[in-house]
Amino acid sequence: MSLVLPTYEDVASAAKTLKGVAHRTPVLTSATADRLTGAKVFFKCENLQRMGAFKFRGGYNAIANLSPEQRRAGVLTYSSGNHAQAIALAGKLLGVATTIIMPHDAPAAKKAATQEYGATVVSYDRYKQDREVVAREIQEKTGMAIIPPYDHLHVIAGQGTAALELLEDVGELDYLLVCLGGGGLLAGSALAASVLSPKCKVFGVEPEAGNDGQQSLRKGEVIRIEPPRSIADGALTLYLGQLTFGVIKQRVKDILTVTDPQLIATMKFFAERMKIVVEPTGCLGAAALMHGALPVEKGARVGVILSGGNVDLAAYAGFLTQS
Ligand SMILES: *Cc1c(COP(=O)(O)O)cnc(C)c1O
Repeated sequence: MSLVLPTYEDVASAAKTLKGVAHRTPVLTSATADRLTGAKVFFKCENLQRMGAFKFRGGYNAIANLSPEQRRAGVLTYSSGNHAQAIALAGKLLGVATTIIMPHDAPAAKKAATQEYGATVVSYDRYKQDREVVAREIQEKTGMAIIPPYDHLHVIAGQGTAALELLEDVGELDYLLVCLGGGGLLAGSALAASVLSPKCKVFGVEPEAGNDGQQSLRKGEVIRIEPPRSIADGALTLYLGQLTFGVIKQRVKDILTVTDPQLIATMKFFAERMKIVVEPTGCLGAAALMHGALPVEKGARVGVILSGGNVDLAAYAGFLTQS
């Protein structure tokens, strides 16, 4: 089977499609973060993206690339939250009907926001059912196009536009740290860096409890794991995609892991020092840098993608007050 992997050109083309539609999110710096890490750190704030996460980029780019006939049939997807909201909002902006298959235990805020954007939500049990199988059953009945959360050329290309903007704004970097679930953001970011900052070492960061990406990169094949438990609910994927792994194995230096307590400490840092709300999954890259999973040379230029800010407020209050 020959796979057509996305390229830098696909990311550049997605950037044109998203111009004036996605926010060009700010890049924040922090003297405290620089002092704590010894590096010069640039935080790309996708927690301030439309619907609260970078996933708007991939979702919009994928729907925008459908044929008129596919758009009429509607779009179907499965997601633990942010991809669902991304598809729901993009569908609303582009006039395409959307149906989302969500785990029964998805955060309440994410479920509600998805429905508010006008999508139809169908629940499944993530400990018992495979969401891809549930999606295919619905697809057979309805003919809707499935836009998966990461293993899709136009999704990967769209996600890569966050790193593209970061590199356009701050110039070349020594390191780029990217949160990793199924690998759409990491693969897209690595493609952007491959042309805009070819010497940059790109790292993925995932929860220690769900290190399928790390195992996969080290084994050279996609490894599947049992459903992990971590507060990083956007990175609980069980396996990388064929396309995302294809790009990651060519272009990503390594995959690092962090623990839930490190994510909580990082979330507190962003709230207290930088006055920004970053969801647990969005803290993965920053936690790796701030808690030593990636030692960097003094003065190194490090880009960190803060991937999202959608966290249930009650849960967030609990994290901030944990000692
Ligand atoms: C989906 C998601 C990720 C992981 O992205 P992948 O493309 O699946 O690797 C990271 N952070 C947030 C906030 C997300 O919603």
